[in-house]
Amino acid sequence: GTKYSNYQSPLRADSSSTKLYADEGKGNDVLLTLIRNSELDQMVKTIEMFERRFNSRYHYDWWFMNDEEFTEDFKAIVTNLVSGRSRFIKIPKELWSYPEHIDQERAASSRQTYREQKIMYGGSESYRFMCRFNSGLFYKLPELKDIEYYWRVEPGTRFTCDISYDVFQYMRENDKIYAFNMALQENQKTIPSLWNATKEFMSANPLAVNPDNLMGFVTDDEGETYNLCHFWSNFEITNLKFFRSPAYESYFEFLDKKGGFFYERWGDAPVHTLAVAIMAPAESIHFVANTGYYHQPNQDCPPDGAIRDALNCQCNPQKDFTWHKWSCVRKFFDIQGLVRPNSMENISS
Ligand code: GDP
Ligand code: MN
Repeated sequence: GTKYSNYQSPLRADSSSTKLYADEGKGNDVLLTLIRNSELDQMVKTIEMFERRFNSRYHYDWWFMNDEEFTEDFKAIVTNLVSGRSRFIKIPKELWSYPEHIDQERAASSRQTYREQKIMYGGSESYRFMCRFNSGLFYKLPELKDIEYYWRVEPGTRFTCDISYDVFQYMRENDKIYAFNMALQENQKTIPSLWNATKEFMSANPLAVNPDNLMGFVTDDEGETYNLCHFWSNFEITNLKFFRSPAYESYFEFLDKKGGFFYERWGDAPVHTLAVAIMAPAESIHFVANTGYYHQPNQDCPPDGAIRDALNCQCNPQKDFTWHKWSCVRKFFDIQGLVRPNSMENISS
């Protein structure tokens, strides 16, 4: 891009571990977006907001992934808006397709059933490739080999409060593995057999279960059933070493063999959440408060007026979902022994 045409890349082709930023204090962390060319307009708005609220102070690189070739237009416009460098990655076919063992006729007939039941994206094949890619494949892209933390940002999302600290560095310094900002309940119909598969995995792989886990976030009856709570993964920050761990890898492989990404409609949100709740130490999970984040149809908006003022929020606290009674964030605070902000009690109890 024009702004960085004179940039001297520190990346060395012959090096097995590369450093992305000249600033020694920075890790190999990137903003990461999976997107179609047709979502450019939405992306422009999201980048403008995210730059204003966060990245204009930190200049992280922002990488874009697509199962199709990005258009020249897309690349030029995006490159000009991002205050770090941008990079455009074409996803190879083997990460965006059916694994061998999947019965594609069965997959098609399942989509038909879901379509008739009017389940969101139930009839979509590409949505399933997307969920599988986000669950267990994106971090296998060769381009991401040296990336440590990634921050997922989706086109069309809004950030309406200042994010006043470097969340990447906060996570690194405090040994955080996974960060989220909203949590809600999944539609059971999209994951009828996911919990049983997960239980089966746990009995076959007891060492994958972390002794300091956060299992209470996902089950209210000692593991009998899944309570459907999940971190809303359209916003997530993760140390990729978690996804690359043998425990997560074998969990993904196990789920992939079951076929639920295609015979049902397993989303990457419940898959990531179950893995994090079971395999990561509870204290390594970070709640990112007060982002003023919006992804259809849910809004985060700090109920505390003083916080909204301090962070220059432009959102309506009446619309806040994070502290709504249906939100799973309350459960997260309770089982983590965290003190909930009290100003929201009168708003959404
Ligand atoms: P939702 O958040 O569950 O409603 O699903 P989205 O439609 O937002 O998809 C999640 C992410 O994957 C978004 O960043 C989309 O831009 C992206 N995405 C979804 N389907 C495709 C696809 O077929 N191709 C590409 N390149 N990106 C996709
Ligand atoms: Mn989305």
